[in-house]
Amino acid sequence: MGLFSKLKAAVKDDWCGDCSSKMDEIEKRLYLMPMSVGHYVDHKEAQYYIKNLIPINSKAEVPIGMYACRITVYRCPECQKRIAMVLPFLPVRDQERTEFAHYYKNGELDSFIWHN
Ligand SMILES: [Zn+2]
Repeated sequence: MGLFSKLKAAVKDDWCGDCSSKMDEIEKRLYLMPMSVGHYVDHKEAQYYIKNLIPINSKAEVPIGMYACRITVYRCPECQKRIAMVLPFLPVRDQERTEFAHYYKNGELDSFIWHN
């Protein structure tokens, strides 16, 4: 394996850090967050998301000035490892003003994602 693929694995969301292969996106969900513009607080703990997120179907359901977040689940076709990426954002007209993404590699959000 070349240096280039290793670098890519380190920086890209959808590359498996163990096998350096491209992961498949297997699920994408949208949630409302109980935070309004100007009051965003970054949360790393999976528990925060499990307790506070409200599943929604589209961005149109996000009230103006409220944050939403997208959870994307990736699976590595080589080692079957799954990673959930939480990306909070503020919808601003047609744009998304994104905050820091958080990654959960040990199934922390699995039961929440699959049972909501
Ligand atoms: Zn892998």
